[in-house]
Amino acid sequence: MDDRMFRTAMGKFATGVTVITTEVDGEVHGMTANAFMSVSLDPKLVLISIAEKAKMLELIKQSGKYAVNILSEHQQEMSMLFAGQIKEERNVEFETFEGLPIIKDSLVNLSCKVYDSHVAGDHTLFVGEVLNLKLQDSNPLAIFEGKYKELK
Ligand code: FAD
Repeated sequence: MDDRMFRTAMGKFATGVTVITTEVDGEVHGMTANAFMSVSLDPKLVLISIAEKAKMLELIKQSGKYAVNILSEHQQEMSMLFAGQIKEERNVEFETFEGLPIIKDSLVNLSCKVYDSHVAGDHTLFVGEVLNLKLQDSNPLAIFEGKYKELK
């Protein structure tokens, strides 16, 4: 099985889209991620998977906390920006929630403290304990076969 076939198969799993945000030494960093899942209710745990080559990896290790911003259908540009798909620099206005930078107007913002981590191949899985959350009533941004979709 080659890499392309594996990627194509994984792209058949439709998901929402998140931007992970964290802050180290006053510098905010964001990264688009769809490898996100809910893990446990008691305690409340979620999981993200971060590539070893991503800048975000060291930053989460340093800060020990991160926010998961689940994007709404109006935030495709945010997804593209934080995936490096928009080349010009943009000035993003972050809000602060539980001491973490978050993306405003997201469907959900979760503030998480690193609970556990596990290296898995070329990614690191971070299990985060959810400390608090904010919810908005909107529709999600979705991704399927590498293309953004709105759920109608
Ligand atoms: P960079 O590549 O340096 O930063 C990402 C982009 O965000 C850059 O364009 C940067 O300018 C911008 N940015 C960062 N901080 C700010 C700020 N404060 N203000 C303004 N702009 C800022 N990778 C994974 O490891 N796991 C996943 O689950 C995953 N899922 C993905 C899902 C989708 C739909 C897409 C499109 C990509 C996904 N990726 C995932 C790939 C990942 O988003 C990119 O490889 C990303 O570029 C890695 O970010 P980085 O931390 O290396 O930082």
